[in-house]
Amino acid sequence: MQCYRHAPAIAVGVCAACFKGVCPECGEDLGFALVCSPACADRSRQLREVNEKATTILKQRRSTMRTAVLFTAILGVASLAGGGFFTWRYNDRFDLYFYATGAAFFYFAIATHRRNR
Ligand SMILES: [Zn+2]
Ligand SMILES: [Zn+2]
Repeated sequence: MQCYRHAPAIAVGVCAACFKGVCPECGEDLGFALVCSPACADRSRQLREVNEKATTILKQRRSTMRTAVLFTAILGVASLAGGGFFTWRYNDRFDLYFYATGAAFFYFAIATHRRNR
């Protein structure tokens, strides 16, 4: 590839904003991207900012979902333990309510986990 400004010069990279080939003389290295002009430098910085924000939001969402899954799983365990306790304490009756609630919590935790993987 050749530089978009001086054709014979060999391009060392591609502008991160407009994808034109740039030689070492024309290209400006921003540290995270190579650009061909101040306008492209601005655009590239904006793009990077948007990207970083999106990544941060995604990470926060992920960790929130992980907490929700964990919490739901704990509720499931608590419900099953409650059911087990009642069955043991009053062993003439099998408390379906606790088992049903526990199973529902587990189902919910697994479904949420699957959806957010
Ligand atoms: Zn450019
Ligand atoms: Zn050039």
